[in-house]
Amino acid sequence: MEFSGHNVLVTGANRGIGRAIALLLGGYRNKDDQPLKVWINYRSNHEEADTLKQEIEKAGGRAALVKFDVTCEEAFVEGIKTIADSDGGLSYLVNNAGIVLDKLAVRMKTQEFLQVLETNLKSVFVGCREALKVMGKQKFGSVVNLSSVIAERGNMGQTNYAASKGGVISMSKSFAYEGALRNIRFNCITPGFILTDMNAGLKDELKAEYLKSIPLARLGESKEVAGAVAFLLSDLASYITGETLKVNGGLYM
Ligand code: NAP
Repeated sequence: MEFSGHNVLVTGANRGIGRAIALLLGGYRNKDDQPLKVWINYRSNHEEADTLKQEIEKAGGRAALVKFDVTCEEAFVEGIKTIADSDGGLSYLVNNAGIVLDKLAVRMKTQEFLQVLETNLKSVFVGCREALKVMGKQKFGSVVNLSSVIAERGNMGQTNYAASKGGVISMSKSFAYEGALRNIRFNCITPGFILTDMNAGLKDELKAEYLKSIPLARLGESKEVAGAVAFLLSDLASYITGETLKVNGGLYM
């Protein structure tokens, strides 16, 4: 995989898919033969984040911790500024942090709807906007936003999540127009059902039901999403922007 840039920020990287993305990116070297520096964002679990940092460094990579809650606009802006002011600036951003708060729509309070939008959509807007500002000056950058198969097909009990992830796709396309003027690409990934804590509560009967509709007949692994993210960030995808890449085992084609 070829990378022209230096620093990458991965939000919500202390566990799950974000961790796998950070770990994979930490193993790549750029065109100056330097390891990519991975900025590991986390909001509270310092131990998990620090263990990941050590794992990347042990394998010969470079990593740093950047603590903030993505829903706090000021803190997100400050986090991006710290990286932009560091050696190499901000080349890549992966907006990965996300939550679910599932409930049938008739029982869902408006506040529960908005809470999911706040984390999954508003924070992605703030991240993309700030990245566009700093990457615009460099005339280089690549952003990947984590959406979901739920944005494409909807789901029972996930009106809030579907709305947030659908918004991420359409918003990324608009950012792609604005970014293209300055050689900055914006793309999305729509993972299917991936084995992480987010799906830990899935009942066995429901899991079996989902498996019937997945042609590859298994749930996905975080590292399989990470591979697609790395590709879209990299120079190999230099002519791809405004695209949404499905990583779902065929669940939704
Ligand atoms: P996960 O295992 O629940 O991990 C979520 C990560 O996001 C955690 O590191 C969490 O930090 C972080 N996070 C949540 N809210 C945050 C906030 N306000 N500020 C900073 N960090 C925050 O989820 P995952 O399965 O890895 O999902 C990662 C992304 O992929 C999400 O956007 C999700 O919607 C998307 N996705 C997942 C699946 C799937 O099947 N797993 C499918 C489609 C899309 P804490 O440890 O502090 O909670």
